[in-house]
Amino acid sequence: MSDCLFCKMVAGEIKPDVVFENDQVLAFRDINPQAPVHILVIPKKHIATLNDLSGEDAALAGELLMSVKAIAEQEGFSEAGYRTTINCNRDSGQEVFHIHLHVLAGRKLSWPPG
Ligand code: AMP
Ligand code: ZN
Repeated sequence: MSDCLFCKMVAGEIKPDVVFENDQVLAFRDINPQAPVHILVIPKKHIATLNDLSGEDAALAGELLMSVKAIAEQEGFSEAGYRTTINCNRDSGQEVFHIHLHVLAGRKLSWPPG
């Protein structure tokens, strides 16, 4: 998708602060962090929202979660804890329509979220 911000990152046209990458997944620091650590984990494949996952994406969805686990270990916050969130559509406040997992860490996170 040529007009998608996150696809431009995957293509190397925009250079985010990358923390993790493999053949299917890219992870980088959020430009407007909501916690001391705020990382976005995206599939390299363009998928607009969680609603748009298809059966053939099941392994990719698993790979995104496995990447969160690897990043938490790599960045040293797995034991202290963290939260991962996927916003979907209007009521969640989703702004970028390329599916992404937010990973928040580095402070005590309140519950329930707003
Ligand atoms: P969402 O509201 O779930 O769609 O989240 C989109 C996230 O993308 C927000 O947390 C933004 O701060 C973040 N974001 C937007 N532009 C950039 C960028 N150029 N680099 C890194 N993160 C970005
Ligand atoms: Zn995209």
